[in-house]
Amino acid sequence: MTVPKSHPRYQSLHIRERLVSGVASGIASQVGLIAHGRGEAFDYLIGERTTGSAMHATEAAVAMLASARNPVISVNGNVAALVPGEIVELGRILDAKIEINLFYRTEERVCTIANHLHEHGASEVFGEYPDPDSTLPLDHPRSLVCEEGIGSADVVLVPLEDGDRCQALVDMGKSVIAIDLNPLSRTAQTATITIVDNVVRTIPAMIKIARQMKDPPSDRLDEIVSQYDNRETLMAAIEEICGAYSEKSGEF
Ligand code: ATP
Repeated sequence: MTVPKSHPRYQSLHIRERLVSGVASGIASQVGLIAHGRGEAFDYLIGERTTGSAMHATEAAVAMLASARNPVISVNGNVAALVPGEIVELGRILDAKIEINLFYRTEERVCTIANHLHEHGASEVFGEYPDPDSTLPLDHPRSLVCEEGIGSADVVLVPLEDGDRCQALVDMGKSVIAIDLNPLSRTAQTATITIVDNVVRTIPAMIKIARQMKDPPSDRLDEIVSQYDNRETLMAAIEEICGAYSEKSGEF
């Protein structure tokens, strides 16, 4: 059944439908649906909107990507199902590479996601042929990376990450930008910049900011990045969730 636009929860149900069809076409995994459910719960508490702290983190993230030497956007099944065209567009504006990196990796799924991204305009997608000499120190398939991509990246954007890999990337000296609706997750706590927002809102917001930031002086970008404090921003995100929660409970 197609959700009617008049439904009060249209947006949220529409996103669910996109993920369900992503599973049907082999892009997303069934487990990805459960991860999405956890995200939805936090999104509900946030009020399904972009908070001030998320916008602040998003600006710093775009500045960091724009000033990176080799920025890479890491894509998993949920991201490919939810924002494929937006990821390609962001990569194009910021001159960032796109690399598929999956926890539940099968070669068929990697190929399906790569084709899906190509259909949405990607000219080059890394991740189908990882380099055996360039693995991350992890004992699961997220260790498989391309040297030209994540292997040599200085900044990695990891929408919907798992904490292990985020920690491994940070330990390797890379800057990690995470998009995670849960400000308490290991990923959120470990990343260099954590955007506590839904990828379906964050990636379009990043595109908008990246367009506005086109060709800024590099010292201005460095200033934005150096003034950013992730711990402070996460605290603000938690306060905003608590505030939205007490506002909601006050409505009863
Ligand atoms: P960690 O290992 O970092 O503690 P976890 O085990 O909670 O994380 P997963 O089960 O892999 O992580 O869940 C993925 C994370 O992605 C969750 O924290 C969830 O809140 C978040 N998430 C899910 N969907 C979205 C979305 N659309 N936008 C942003 N974040 C999302």
